Amino acid sequence: MTAVSDRNHRITFQRSPKGLPVAEDFGADTTPIPTPGPGQFLSRTVYLSLDPYYRNVMKNSQIYADRLNPGDVMVGETVAQIVESRHTDFRAGDYIAVRNGWQEYALSSGQGVRRLDPAVAPISAALGVLGMPGLTGYAGLVYLGEPKPGETVVVSAATGAVGTTAGQVARLVGARAVGIAGSDEKCEFAVRELGYAACVNYKKGDLAAQLKEACPTGVDVYFDNVGGDTLTAVLRNLARGARIVLCGMIEAYSLDTPPAGPFLGPVVGARATMRGLVVYDHMHRMDEMTRVIGGWIRSGQFRYREDVTDGLAQAPEAFCRLMRGGNFGKALVRVSAERS
Ligand code: NDP
Repeated sequence: MTAVSDRNHRITFQRSPKGLPVAEDFGADTTPIPTPGPGQFLSRTVYLSLDPYYRNVMKNSQIYADRLNPGDVMVGETVAQIVESRHTDFRAGDYIAVRNGWQEYALSSGQGVRRLDPAVAPISAALGVLGMPGLTGYAGLVYLGEPKPGETVVVSAATGAVGTTAGQVARLVGARAVGIAGSDEKCEFAVRELGYAACVNYKKGDLAAQLKEACPTGVDVYFDNVGGDTLTAVLRNLARGARIVLCGMIEAYSLDTPPAGPFLGPVVGARATMRGLVVYDHMHRMDEMTRVIGGWIRSGQFRYREDVTDGLAQAPEAFCRLMRGGNFGKALVRVSAERS
């Protein structure tokens, strides 16, 4: 198997961003390609996942175990192919989901590694709808949102990796899914491809009024990926007994001071429940999620879109675009070509 180059190219953490991240918050270097020791393997990164939580890791937020110092390789989930193995359970050529971070090559002992079967689904899906974001949308909606047939489920960031999953799970369990997204193009895609009953563009006019029209009987479940003004607008449209799944607050990740919270009066009036979601509490449901959603993908009932940027060197700019809401689908970087 030929190497991409004889050096390992890496993107490093340079400094904590001030406000929205910029390319200068990252550095780049090369190191020798490492050699596996006994019980280890070397893998070549094929896809790097770009996830909003990296912005919080770059703040060295206490929520995450990762700690970054200037010059450290950026952390992150990847799909990779094993190039050399001294591990009894992994062979050269195997595709895996592994946390290689933002670099071309990395060693692993196999801990926390998921083996992938390219015959089951495209390997990139293991970073999106069949990976951590998919598990977030699936487990968060099913186990915290508990949607019932005929109920109205609203999902913000409706065409992203998490929203794509939550919205389609809602539809496939018989609920009426209504999306919130940031452009007409995203909204059209949400309805046409993902099967949302309606999708409203929050950048166009009064969101609370648009939701009132799209959800005439009120919102039974809100899957919140955004927080801020979007959450406030949904709270004004709750149905009695609503459940709110607090999944993400991307509107606040790039603010230097936390925003004032939304007015919670409507939660009282609606006798609603708000629950915080952390995907790591649901890791034991990964097999269930991949079986259920993998089945829906193969039967053509579940669709997804990827936003792929080519080349590791472009990863900082692609991440900055994600944090500005500029991605359309699961944000990925193709670091090297897939090879059979
Ligand atoms: P997405 O692919 O959905 O990308 C983020 C999207 O957020 C953007 O495309 C944009 O879509 C939307 N958005 C809305 N407001 C803003 C804003 N002010 N700035 C930037 N983007 C904005 O990402 P993911 O699917 O990976 O993640 C969705 C959410 O789920 C995130 O908040 C993430 O942190 C959270 N999450 C939570 C987990 C948990 O355990 N609780 C686990 C994984 C993810 P649009 O243009 O449509 O508004």
